[in-house]
Amino acid sequence: MSNDYLMTPEQKDLQLMVRDFVEKEVKPYSAEWDVKDEFPAETFKKAAEMGLHLLAIPDEFGGMGLDHTTTCILREELGKGDAGFAVSIGANTLGYTPLEIAGTKEQIKKFSEIVVPGELSAFCLTEAQGGSDAGNCKTTAVKDGDEYILNGTKAFITNGGIAKVYTVFAMTEKGKGVKGMSAFMVEADLPGVSVGAKEHKMGIRASNTTEVIFTDVRVPADHLIGKEGEGFKIAMKTLDRTRPDGSATAVGICQRAIDECVKYAKEREVFGRAIGKHQAVAFMIADMEIQTQAARQLVMHAANLMDHGIFDPNISSVAKTFAGDTAMRVTTDAVQILGGFGYSRDYPIEKLMRDAKIYQIFEGTNQIQRVVISGNLLR
Ligand SMILES: Cc1cc2nc3c(=O)[nH]c(=O)nc-3n(C[C@H](O)[C@H](O)[C@H](O)COP(=O)(O)OP(=O)(O)OC[C@H]3O[C@@H](n4cnc5c(N)ncnc54)[C@H](O)[C@@H]3O)c2cc1C
Repeated sequence: MSNDYLMTPEQKDLQLMVRDFVEKEVKPYSAEWDVKDEFPAETFKKAAEMGLHLLAIPDEFGGMGLDHTTTCILREELGKGDAGFAVSIGANTLGYTPLEIAGTKEQIKKFSEIVVPGELSAFCLTEAQGGSDAGNCKTTAVKDGDEYILNGTKAFITNGGIAKVYTVFAMTEKGKGVKGMSAFMVEADLPGVSVGAKEHKMGIRASNTTEVIFTDVRVPADHLIGKEGEGFKIAMKTLDRTRPDGSATAVGICQRAIDECVKYAKEREVFGRAIGKHQAVAFMIADMEIQTQAARQLVMHAANLMDHGIFDPNISSVAKTFAGDTAMRVTTDAVQILGGFGYSRDYPIEKLMRDAKIYQIFEGTNQIQRVVISGNLLR
């Protein structure tokens, strides 16, 4: 990988540790998880023993306390193995980040006590009436003494059916628009929390995506994250911070596609020579490499800025959009390079293409990112 010379010895060690784990425990089983449409709980246990579900959680609370750059290095490795599995683990960072932004030490301690032993969390923002318009939130949280009573249904929640703790966004004051939204930490075992329909997805099928339903759930008032009315701001800041980390998995998908295509293009002979010797194929591989290198550098740049305390939502959106679009282009070309075998489930390529698609949709669609990026420039 071209960034090797920039890595610290610790980052290199972690990268090799995760690469080894992916080769032994993820790649050989990824196709099976895809067919079963199931989260691989046993493999997750092994990942959790290595602390891979705790990348962002500070070490004083039992996590790995990694910076964004290191997180991206590891998320790329996971993405090379199975993007669905990588997304499940990554959603723990998404669940945790609202607390990093606005939580108290006590809240972070409570959250950590739940996930550190080997559990997952989930970030519950989207509702059925439109994920792009996240401010149009129908879930309510009504204060009642020293509790809030939560009612509503969240849609498309990664880890929805398996998380032990949720960060939930709900309206504490209707009529105030996004300024009436607040954020809460909600334990999954509270009475009234239930899991709704599971999504049967096109890709990232090793990840669990469900509705999460809150019916008269009594949440202790000290589980409010930040202040009342700060929820939307916290949600947006969370996504600004996590987009580069997630996009590193998209880069991993691209790298896997390149690795598979290079191998295939050397082996597969048509018209008496390896297809890689046909310039049309060779140039497609060159373009895959050019685009992937560019996506990786953008993602790493966005991560590096955050590690220097610079939280620039614009660069985060730029990196997310470019990496997602690149993953789609690169994997589509990869299918083409393998021809009929690229289209067949006997080879890993068509799955990469199905997995890549989500990177143009979640954490804010790539159209919405373009709305944001152009808005920043034209305002
Ligand atoms: C597998 C998966 C996992 C997910 N995980 C989570 C999670 O863990 N937590 C969570 O809260 N959410 C999650 N989501 C939800 C995800 O963030 C939303 O699906 C996404 O934000 C888009 O919302 P939508 O699906 O309702 O599409 P819509 O908002 O209905 O958009 C439909 C189409 O219209 C376009 N569009 C809408 N408005 C505009 C506009 N103003 N300008 C231009 N184009 C526009 C969109 O780009 C899109 O192409 C997940 C979704 C999926 C599929």
